Amino acid sequence: MDKSAWYRKIPKVDILLEMPEIRLLREKYGHEIVMDKIRVQMEELRRKIGAAGSEEELEAAGESIRALPQAIEESVQEQHKPRVRKVINATGTILHTNLGRAPISREQAEKLTDIVTGYSNLEYDLAAGHRGERYSHFAQLLCRLTGAEDAMVVNNNAAAVMLVLSTLAKGGEVIVSRGELVEIGGKFRVPDVMAASGADLVEVGTTNKTHFSDYEEALTERTKALLKVHTSNYRIVGFTESVGIDELKPLAEAHGIPVIEDLGSGVLIDLEKYGLHHEPTVQESIRAGADVVCFSGDKLLGGPQAGIIIGKKKYIQAMKKNQLTRALRVDKFTVTALELVLLEYLNPEKVVQNVPVLRMITEPKEAVCRRAQALAEKLTARGCAAEIAVVPCESQIGGGSLPLERLPGAAVTIRPQHMSTAALEQRMLSLPVPVVGRAADDAVWLDARTLSEADCDILAEELTEVLA
Ligand SMILES: *Cc1c(COP(=O)(O)O)cnc(C)c1O
Repeated sequence: MDKSAWYRKIPKVDILLEMPEIRLLREKYGHEIVMDKIRVQMEELRRKIGAAGSEEELEAAGESIRALPQAIEESVQEQHKPRVRKVINATGTILHTNLGRAPISREQAEKLTDIVTGYSNLEYDLAAGHRGERYSHFAQLLCRLTGAEDAMVVNNNAAAVMLVLSTLAKGGEVIVSRGELVEIGGKFRVPDVMAASGADLVEVGTTNKTHFSDYEEALTERTKALLKVHTSNYRIVGFTESVGIDELKPLAEAHGIPVIEDLGSGVLIDLEKYGLHHEPTVQESIRAGADVVCFSGDKLLGGPQAGIIIGKKKYIQAMKKNQLTRALRVDKFTVTALELVLLEYLNPEKVVQNVPVLRMITEPKEAVCRRAQALAEKLTARGCAAEIAVVPCESQIGGGSLPLERLPGAAVTIRPQHMSTAALEQRMLSLPVPVVGRAADDAVWLDARTLSEADCDILAEELTEVLA
């Protein structure tokens, strides 16, 4: 086995660089990245030849030498593909944190394009002709929608909680019920966030029961606030008791301290109207007397990632002055997208149609089933090598919202004939538009609740090829 002859067959770099296809590549992508990929591919070739233990393996390495220009081209192109990509969410979980939570509508995205591809009045007061405030665009709107006095927005709700506590309770104590010391996904733990904000946590009550007197007895001159946390992602049922904002309000007032509520999801409409469980609304919290309320922009609200803080003017003003605010501030993408989503809420009848998250949550079972049926028919008509069926299923809202809610709908199940379910799942993830489904009962499930009509068209096309 003479390996040196094979090493000699690897073309020299300057020869490679002058090949027409590589020259085109350099023109399009620049010399540096092409050189980079040439080095990587050549090293890989040498490694292959070095590791070859038989003539066959050497022959295979020889094949790679012939394919070298193509391999270089592919690796340069691969490097230029954005890693953040559109995926199809066939899991049925509407607020899927791993898949980017709330989608915004195409109409909203188009309006957003106009703003962010040019300049905007992000921090410019057009009426006055001088510097303005980036929160001004939606502060009034938020106040109108929620009944609060003032509003501001930071990067996400975790940041909002941090800022609220740091501004109102740093160096003092904050009283929280033990039943509300929750952990939200992504390691957001109420006690840890409090520690990081510089406020001391005073736990009262027990996991299942906290009484008014527990708060009353824990109050000291060091107490700076009473905090309520909505236990978004779990429920304690049975022998339970908690104290509402309306009850805590007089106690806090008597001590001259604020009542803060971290609502988590922060829904602005009454979901009960659509047959769901009651989720406390932002308006209810303000009406009950909360001085400061914070919630996410990209959970049930259906907007961009953001942490919305609303409440009494004096507290919001104090937060704007906190140095942390500068570090947590939102950019023009968020400000614009958030205002557009909030504008939809001016019309409570239309909002469930125009905000994708609300549309998916409130879509009637029958409509979801029809979409599943149509997708299954398309796949069957294209002659996929698989057993395809439509079955009833239940979807979740996700994002730590309404954990007990199950939305009845339908899924398309696929049992491939020539590969395993696991292999199909894997193949689906590497498609040009990757598809995330779930596997159960020896089938891949595509839940139609989180699929748009456009998704179904892409899916049918892609799956036909995979299952050919
Ligand atoms: C989700 C949640 C958070 C964190 O919000 P993000 O916007 O994800 O940062 C904080 N508190 C509660 C109660 C939540 O449900």
